Amino acid sequence: MTWKDRYRPDIIYDNLDSIDLQILKNKGIKGIVLDIDNTISEPGEKKASPGVEQWIRMAANEGFEICVLSNSSQRRVDGFTQNMNIAAIGSANKPSRRSFRKAACKLSLRPDQVAVIGDQLFTDISGGNRAGMYTVLVTPINTNNEWFFIRFKRVLERIIKNSWDK
Ligand SMILES: [Mg+2]
Repeated sequence: MTWKDRYRPDIIYDNLDSIDLQILKNKGIKGIVLDIDNTISEPGEKKASPGVEQWIRMAANEGFEICVLSNSSQRRVDGFTQNMNIAAIGSANKPSRRSFRKAACKLSLRPDQVAVIGDQLFTDISGGNRAGMYTVLVTPINTNNEWFFIRFKRVLERIIKNSWDK
């Protein structure tokens, strides 16, 4: 895997709602690992964005097993999922492969049966790719209030994304 491939998602969507779950099914995907910040909520929020709970319920009805995976504390992650009947792993230390494998274990699936949905190349996509999962990049919900380190990573992300087009 070249450094470019490591950060390259298998597929890109604008947001959660535009993800074509049928495409995932056709790929043999049975489970979804979901990032929190800027994927299902604005950064630092305590609740998921409007429509996310319905989306998760819809995906579960479609037969997908779902696990939330975040570098946030377990406490914050549990707050997100308390009303939803899904697995949740906090303090994940993404892009550590270990946390992605743990998520696959929680879903009782092999990594190649799992899709990672996230907004960051250096955590969600890189970790998912190296764990052998299908990777789905979504556009971050709101980058205006991200902290300095993430803003810096967004600049690097832009450089990498530009390199894909050529
Ligand atoms: Mg994120």
